[in-house]
Amino acid sequence: MVANLGADRFAPATCPRLIVKIGSSLLVDAAGTIRRDWLAGVVSDIAERQRAGQQIAIVSSGAIALGARRLGLTKGGRASLEDAQAAAATGQIGLSHAWAELLGAEGLTAAQMLVTLGDLEDRRRYLNAAATLDRLLALGVVPVINENDSVATEEIRFGDNDRLAARIAQAAGASGVILLSDVDGLYTANPARDASATLIAEVDEVDDDIRAMADGGSDSGMGSGGMVSKLEAARIAQAGGAHLAIISGKVERPLAAFAAGGRGTVFLSRGGASARKAWLAGRLTAHGIITIDAGAVAALKQGSSLLAAGATRVTGGFARGDVIEISDPAGTRVARGLSEYDAADAARIAGHRRDAHAALLGYAPRAALVHRDHLVLL
Ligand code: GLU
Repeated sequence: MVANLGADRFAPATCPRLIVKIGSSLLVDAAGTIRRDWLAGVVSDIAERQRAGQQIAIVSSGAIALGARRLGLTKGGRASLEDAQAAAATGQIGLSHAWAELLGAEGLTAAQMLVTLGDLEDRRRYLNAAATLDRLLALGVVPVINENDSVATEEIRFGDNDRLAARIAQAAGASGVILLSDVDGLYTANPARDASATLIAEVDEVDDDIRAMADGGSDSGMGSGGMVSKLEAARIAQAGGAHLAIISGKVERPLAAFAAGGRGTVFLSRGGASARKAWLAGRLTAHGIITIDAGAVAALKQGSSLLAAGATRVTGGFARGDVIEISDPAGTRVARGLSEYDAADAARIAGHRRDAHAALLGYAPRAALVHRDHLVLL
């Protein structure tokens, strides 16, 4: 059975470290209270896997939904950024308390980590967070992670915990991510409207065909943003060497149900990128764009560095060492990398061969605009 094949990839023996993400709609009911019985079942699943030798970190949503109820805020606490931040600050205490209590009842110790996008985009802070996660997991503790919504502003938020879970998987060196969702995977079309829609058991690559399927479900009431952000999470996880599964959380003991052959979509890991390249591929923000010609696109795909001669346009205000995106002539992002030059100097040498660079720059040029060691194809 294909579904069983998927479940095997998340077994303790094949996946020593696993990230489990749980969405707000599963954790909190319509009245704004924690669904304790269901959550206790998830915790039993986690405890079972821990006893079998798997290290698990949880990415838990639900703070805003819980806090909104406590504060009597409208629109689930999302009417304004200030409301969301107040709701998150209030709800997070209750959420942590529930996790600590339920994990404690299974003899497990919980730890809380609240992170912002900036914490994981900045290389030094990322490494700090990674070291903390590594230590906690090695100590047998179950880290419970959420976005630090009460300080993150709109511009610097992850905004959804799907992508946060994929970034945490990279930071923790996990080889698997399970997104517990209110859908049981990715369908070829919107199953609510198309009776012929089928569940896709495995996905090798999140390409345009796959993205189109998520768009197809846009007004299904399941939340199109939901599937779009899950696909982005899958891309980040795959690039970082982790499998990612979307499975239904609408059943009791969902991890056990999946392991027993339950339905879901597994996005297969694309294997061994170096840790630095995985971090680059997973970054969500870039400081500029370098557009390149078709010849340079072909060269990058063969593993070459990006040479200035192949660049046709430079936009953005990046400094040397900043992350930039590389686009093909049609404007499609093809790669991401660390620029060897600031934006002004990159623009100066764009389109010129290397022997002209010294005269254009007034100093000895570097070997490439983006070195292949600091470049990942998307
Ligand atoms: N961090 C948000 C919360 O705790 C949830 C984000 C999401 O919905 O993915 O409420």
